[in-house]
Amino acid sequence: MTRKTNPLYISTKDALQHIIHRYDNFLFDCDGVVWLGETLIPGAADFIQLLVDNNKKFAFVTNNSSNSRNTYLRKFAKLGIPNITKDMLYPTCYSAALEVRDQLKIPIGSKIWILGDHGIEEELQEMGYVTLGCNDPKLNYLDIDSSILEVDPEVKAIVVGSTKEFNYMRISSTLQYLLHNNKSIPFVGCNIDRTYPGPHGLILPAGGSVVNYMAYTADRDFINVGKPSTQFLNIILEDKQFDRGRTLMIGDTLYTDIKFGNDGNLGEGRGSLLVLSGGTKSNDLQNLIDSASGSGQEDLVPSYFVESIGHLAQLMKS
Ligand SMILES: [Mg+2]
Repeated sequence: MTRKTNPLYISTKDALQHIIHRYDNFLFDCDGVVWLGETLIPGAADFIQLLVDNNKKFAFVTNNSSNSRNTYLRKFAKLGIPNITKDMLYPTCYSAALEVRDQLKIPIGSKIWILGDHGIEEELQEMGYVTLGCNDPKLNYLDIDSSILEVDPEVKAIVVGSTKEFNYMRISSTLQYLLHNNKSIPFVGCNIDRTYPGPHGLILPAGGSVVNYMAYTADRDFINVGKPSTQFLNIILEDKQFDRGRTLMIGDTLYTDIKFGNDGNLGEGRGSLLVLSGGTKSNDLQNLIDSASGSGQEDLVPSYFVESIGHLAQLMKS
């Protein structure tokens, strides 16, 4: 597909009003768009309120698998964004659980092995699965004779996502499941993100670094249930009854968020908005625009860009 390689900079109230009229539904990435770590992006709550006032629908789609939807609900409330409900939230710990149940059709009550933070455990348990691995204390220290390195033959899937407890025992135990029975247990990866923007300007390792570490170690592929998976997008659009042609994806990462909107043909081919408040800076965008045409990278070029969603709220008041 030939795609325009000249994104429109939203710099006026008129341009913003065009966006408000053109789209009914807004998908937001979270880290780098709504917040950075535990800090709200200035004006983000005002922009969400602007959408509410204009009867727009929205949902939050984050590749972060560490937190369950219930944890995200508490975070939105704590940061002062009211009226967010659980059905608006799509973290990849939830999409991993949906994959296990609806695509892999693994019976409820089955055992699932987890390498990742609590979010994955909570979402799978809420669906009725029995979870193994994750933060089992036996995985906290090295013990090559531990029984936890013996494969439980009842495990029906492996889910891997971001973890702050990545250590040799977790790698080793997960590897046994990935290799078991000629590598036949399905391997679900929560995202492909290399890094995410942390506080104090730090760039921190994200879930994709864990998933790809395990994929490399076991020498096998995984099912990516995060952005830019078009299957994930289709699930959300159907779940929310969002019209694809009138939906806009807003994100800060080119190879996940922007590609997600572009590959999914949101907004009839103009359905991605890049914000510069997260991991992508204006010189990254300029470098992409300079090299994208004919390079096979057109799918990374956003339809629109702006400094932040708070900046959009400011434009409306101008
Ligand atoms: Mg982000």
